[in-house]
Amino acid sequence: MELKGNSLIAYNVLEKKILNNGFCTLCGACEAACPTSALHIISEKVNRLYDCSKDIDLCPICYEICPHSEALLLRSLKFVADAPIKNEAIGYYRKMVLAQAVDPKLRQQSHGGAVVTALLNYGIETKIFDSAIVSQSEPENPSKPKPAVALVPDDILSAVGSKFFPSSVAKAYGSAVYSHGKSAIAFVGVPCHVLALRKMEAWQHKIIDKLKITIGLFCFGTFSFSSMLEYIEKTYKIRASDIKQMHLSSKFAIQTEKGEIRIPLSEIEQHIMPSCRTCMDFTSELADISVGGAYPLKDWSTVIIRTKAGEDFFYKAVENGIISTWVIEQEPKVFERVMLAAMQKRAEALKKAMEMEEYYGYLPTLLLRETPDLAKYKVEEIMTKNIQIVPESMFVSQFLDYVAKHHHIGYPVENEKGELVGWVTIEEAANVAKKKRNETSVGEIARKTLVVAYPDETALDVFKRMSEYETGRVVVIDRVGSKLLGIVTKADLMHALAKQAEKRV
Ligand SMILES: Cc1cc2nc3c(=O)[nH]c(=O)nc-3n(C[C@H](O)[C@H](O)[C@H](O)COP(=O)(O)OP(=O)(O)OC[C@H]3O[C@@H](n4cnc5c(N)ncnc54)[C@H](O)[C@@H]3O)c2cc1C
Ligand code: SF4
Ligand code: SF4
Ligand code: SF4
Repeated sequence: MELKGNSLIAYNVLEKKILNNGFCTLCGACEAACPTSALHIISEKVNRLYDCSKDIDLCPICYEICPHSEALLLRSLKFVADAPIKNEAIGYYRKMVLAQAVDPKLRQQSHGGAVVTALLNYGIETKIFDSAIVSQSEPENPSKPKPAVALVPDDILSAVGSKFFPSSVAKAYGSAVYSHGKSAIAFVGVPCHVLALRKMEAWQHKIIDKLKITIGLFCFGTFSFSSMLEYIEKTYKIRASDIKQMHLSSKFAIQTEKGEIRIPLSEIEQHIMPSCRTCMDFTSELADISVGGAYPLKDWSTVIIRTKAGEDFFYKAVENGIISTWVIEQEPKVFERVMLAAMQKRAEALKKAMEMEEYYGYLPTLLLRETPDLAKYKVEEIMTKNIQIVPESMFVSQFLDYVAKHHHIGYPVENEKGELVGWVTIEEAANVAKKKRNETSVGEIARKTLVVAYPDETALDVFKRMSEYETGRVVVIDRVGSKLLGIVTKADLMHALAKQAEKRV
């Protein structure tokens, strides 16, 4: 936080680190949370309409709750950290299923399973919540999101489908509380939107006790409105007002009255917002319920249920015939795609992060970094025990089914004598050509160098070793008999840090 004269004003830091560097994704959380109503999003930019330091001499809010600052991040993890499954690619969760709205008309409109729309409708109709924050379409520019406070099912229906530009949904959350007096609000947003709300929750901001449920969307990134539309107009002669809808499958599809064009994501990635380049969250890891595509299946969505509140709400909708579900374990391709997309997003973010830090002198994301707090934990306290081991003779096709069933990314590999011979992950398996997966064994593709740790070492030792060997996991073995005791992943280290942050509150 920056000292200005006698004052401790977060806006100075927000401006310098986030706004001036172009890291703002226009969520509007700072506007909703500002105690002096000084901040307003006008013309796609956060503006401070007057100098708040004239009224107050201490306010850390806008910088701390901004999803692109490092503040409050570990404390925000506590809202999901009691879930039984901890996965290094998609975070904490209870269940992962495929789902779709039972109503086929809804599914037709959404390009996915219309799960979000069906859940929100159900919640409003049954008065589980009194409003929902959604992103409708701007009437003049249907591809541009218009954040809105939905009060009746029609408001929700008009938000069906994804818009791939920034939406100020956290600002709309503020309006739901301040202007509409709502007290049980459902919130839908991409991971950074959900994070902003969780940070408000960690901060115990006065408007956050009205939040009933958060539904997070999977997200590869959002585009800068002006630069993307300029490119589309110049390259494809399509004006913003002609775009009816955009959707994502294997390519990015743009629909107009004249038809559909399909563009590879790599062609337009330079128009993605700067913050998205170092964002590591693909699946909205802090939401109560996360929803994303279920490619290659049409009409289905992937649903990750993370909290008890999310679970209760989701299964009420299932029991009442609003949503139908299907076991994801029966569709290993969907599971594989979600995991790979999440891992790829993390890996690319890490690669970009160092470059960006050098260039901007600031990193708009939280990375797991070396910190003395890690030295407070012994490996045996944080390791995951009872791990599954796969035999080296298992075929890659069988391994991918196994991964879908057990939901972990990587597994130790053992030979016939029960000796550890390597480590295999979904990444190595996915690199094997499809037609060769029935004849290639896990033993052939496993990494033979095992990075090991001992139970009496600290989490900091493990972190350093992970960095040295550029791996996200180590196996823990007994110092005496080299017996496999467990594994430690980066998710375990994050978990330890989250616990540490929790103790400080
Ligand atoms: C920017 C963006 C990137 C995405 N990237 C991926 C991806 O890479 N892979 C993947 O599997 N899924 C991605 N998704 C999620 C996917 O497109 C669907 O939103 C998700 O599968 C839910 O589908 P549904 O049929 O249940 O939703 P629907 O029932 O159609 O409801 C969609 C909901 O999304 C909300 N919404 C739409 N646009 C925005 C926005 N810009 N900001 C906040 N909320 C919005 C609306 O309020 C609506 O309630 C992305 C979504 C967005 C908005
Ligand atoms: S008063 Fe508003 S603008 Fe000023 S530091 Fe606080 S939150 Fe930021
Ligand atoms: S809180 Fe949201 S709107 Fe405010 S600066 Fe951060 S990203 Fe931008
Ligand atoms: S990629 Fe991350 S920062 Fe970018 S819009 Fe999605 S959640 Fe926000």
